[in-house]
Amino acid sequence: MKQGAKKIEPKKPVQEPARELVANRETLKRIFIMRESDSSRATLVKYMEQILFGLHEFLMHHVGITEERSLVELSRRFMDSAINPEPEKRLAEVIAELIDEIAPYAVNVSSPYFVGHMTSAIPFFMVHLSTFVAALNQNVVKIETSKVVSMVEKQVLAKIHRMIYKRSQKFYNRHIQSAYTSLGGFVEGGTQANLTALWVARNRLLAPKSGFAGVEQSGMAQAYNAYGISRCIVLVSQLGHYSLRKSGGVLGIGSDNVISVPTDADNRIDMACLKKIIACLEKDEPAARIMAIVGIAGTTETGTVDPLNELADLCHEKAIHFHVDAAWGGPALFSEKYADLLSGIERADSVTIDGHKQFYMPMSCGMVYFKEPKAMDAIAYHAAYVNRPGSVDLGIRSLAGSRAANSLILHGALKIMGKRGYALLIDHGIETAAAFAELISERPDFQLMTRPELNILTYRYCPAQLQKRLSTATPAERMRANQFLNRANTLLQRHQREAGKSFVSRTTLRRPESEGGPAVVLRSVIMNPMTHPGILNEILDEQESLCKTRLKSAFAVDLSSS
Ligand SMILES: *Cc1c(COP(=O)(O)O)cnc(C)c1O
Repeated sequence: MKQGAKKIEPKKPVQEPARELVANRETLKRIFIMRESDSSRATLVKYMEQILFGLHEFLMHHVGITEERSLVELSRRFMDSAINPEPEKRLAEVIAELIDEIAPYAVNVSSPYFVGHMTSAIPFFMVHLSTFVAALNQNVVKIETSKVVSMVEKQVLAKIHRMIYKRSQKFYNRHIQSAYTSLGGFVEGGTQANLTALWVARNRLLAPKSGFAGVEQSGMAQAYNAYGISRCIVLVSQLGHYSLRKSGGVLGIGSDNVISVPTDADNRIDMACLKKIIACLEKDEPAARIMAIVGIAGTTETGTVDPLNELADLCHEKAIHFHVDAAWGGPALFSEKYADLLSGIERADSVTIDGHKQFYMPMSCGMVYFKEPKAMDAIAYHAAYVNRPGSVDLGIRSLAGSRAANSLILHGALKIMGKRGYALLIDHGIETAAAFAELISERPDFQLMTRPELNILTYRYCPAQLQKRLSTATPAERMRANQFLNRANTLLQRHQREAGKSFVSRTTLRRPESEGGPAVVLRSVIMNPMTHPGILNEILDEQESLCKTRLKSAFAVDLSSS
């Protein structure tokens, strides 16, 4: 074990009479029936303690990210594919094994030094609320397996809808518990939210009409035929999430028809380019139909927000479905200081928000919202034994069938945190990212590549001398130097990750050839409230030291060599 990492001894469970490890009716009964005696209750509590504190202590003492161990070696431990005929272990042993053998080699995403991805520490109460969801085990596909929980879900959906769309009190009174309308839905994550939004957009565009039963029923070939359409197109900036292309594939429009629009110098969709693309389509391919335009509120790679109002104007003028992918940025609406960054989101026909991102919920939870309460009728399904017309069954308008009551977690979290609690998290992320950008700018050997708008930024290591020479280099020299830098920064990210003390991620930004072509950059996402500028400075120190020692030759770029 690495220095500083304390091995956590699993707490000894309360002594129970030793029982044989066998599967029979007696043992089955014991695991399905709540323990009756005081001592057996105490045992169950101890097990929970082990998870809550055994694991927590491990994470606390183990400030690093993960134990250094190769993936090949780890995979060798999991080669046995036979299921034991008889029980192998007791719960206490399984928990101890998970803490000892699995947790150290998993990734400590709670560490304030883990600033590379959109996954981070979650508030402690989330574990309790998750346990409650598992214990109650409701299935919100239908009222008959969830009853009041479906109503809680509708209430939570209305609360977030209201945060986005700010409709009237009367509007929410009418729709909050209506069996005939849906303000949105809980889904698996941002991917499924985007898919659901585009599914609705597709079915509304290729709706039933006289002589045609609609695309959902009759399929794409007949739909294109009925409407005289050559293809359907989705337009999104080149920083769009790849789930949109997946949706293009699943929905049958083809992932190639999810078209990337270039971005401007601030990483926002280039409106002039977008308008030009639309004009060209109208002129050269009048049978092509734009199914949706997507604005991004917080791109995955740079955290930037598209000009939502301008996009809304354009979509309104052309009668095109306007979807906003706010999987990441949505909760910025909680912040009094920064909600304006998302101005225009209230004009979207549909909005994606991820629960497991900036709502700090445990994996996995996403949501999709619709401005119009009837929009989701376009994807409604009924079955004889559930989801009957006119019932409140949430499964009627949902891609998923059986589904966990994750809304209960958000229901609790909103009460515990309040708007202000979430706003504090958002403000901290945005302001710490701005401070990080300053720290990077102050170091001559680093280059800030994208300035943070929300709480994501990108940068790279590029020795000061090289930066200076690049400013007067020829385009060819710039291209060559950039290739070196790309390789060297790739190595830098890998070395730091493998050392296991801290973590930033890496991505490749598209850039014109005049600037040296695609750039490999280090990407940092600041969402852990325990991450502060001191920690970020340490991360830069570690990177700088790696570059000046182990990676010295990788960064020795000679511009003149051919
Ligand atoms: C994370 C993300 C998604 C995908 O969400 P998942 O929960 O990973 O499926 C989509 N869009 C954006 C902008 C995201 O940041």
